[in-house]
Amino acid sequence: MKIDPVEQDLREDIVATMRLMDERGLNRGTSGNVSARYRDGLLVTPSGVLPGDLTPATIVRLDADGNSPEGSMRPSSEWKMHAGLLARRPDFGAVVHCHARHATILACAGKTIPALHYMVGVSGKPEVPLAPYRTFGSLELAEVVADAMDGGSACLMANHGLITAAPRLDRALAIAEEMEEQAAVYWGTLAIGGPNLLTGEQMDDVMLRFKSYGQARPAKT
Ligand code: 13P
Ligand code: ZN
Repeated sequence: MKIDPVEQDLREDIVATMRLMDERGLNRGTSGNVSARYRDGLLVTPSGVLPGDLTPATIVRLDADGNSPEGSMRPSSEWKMHAGLLARRPDFGAVVHCHARHATILACAGKTIPALHYMVGVSGKPEVPLAPYRTFGSLELAEVVADAMDGGSACLMANHGLITAAPRLDRALAIAEEMEEQAAVYWGTLAIGGPNLLTGEQMDDVMLRFKSYGQARPAKT
């Protein structure tokens, strides 16, 4: 199978992202999966492989119809969720899914993450939505997740976990880390009477300020 340098770089980034999720405690075991847009399809982690056993060669290339080259490993059971999101959102180039503990606690309690802290706005919306429960790996899950993500970059998945997306993998991972932090903070506030929420107007102001936050970056990062 021919692999060009762009594809090789993406494969390496996908492996590194899965390992970082494991090292940073965002995920454990074979849970979670990562993808990046490639040509008219995507590159995605193989199903049921521990992060430590991943190599660039194990990453699965899928075309627009979900077909992989002969001899490929079986793709993530959630490949339809990744492909569906990338198809629905041309602004996304990478998708990260994990079972981060606090995000999963909220998702199992049927909760969204409300505007308790301005950094909730990193999700692209004033509240991180919750996609309803559907069986893992199903087309139904892919659909409810794409619906819940509408206009944003993150959503909780009921009784399951967290998914984030961005133009690039490093950003999708950073959003996942921030969502897990906000989930943990929310969980903490629930133990002491609940959060003091920001207003819609305050969050509108935050979203505006995010547009010019940090250093100017080249387009598409
Ligand atoms: P895969 O190992 O098939 O990617 O599945 C892990 C997972 O998190 C399913 O939702
Ligand atoms: Zn999962």
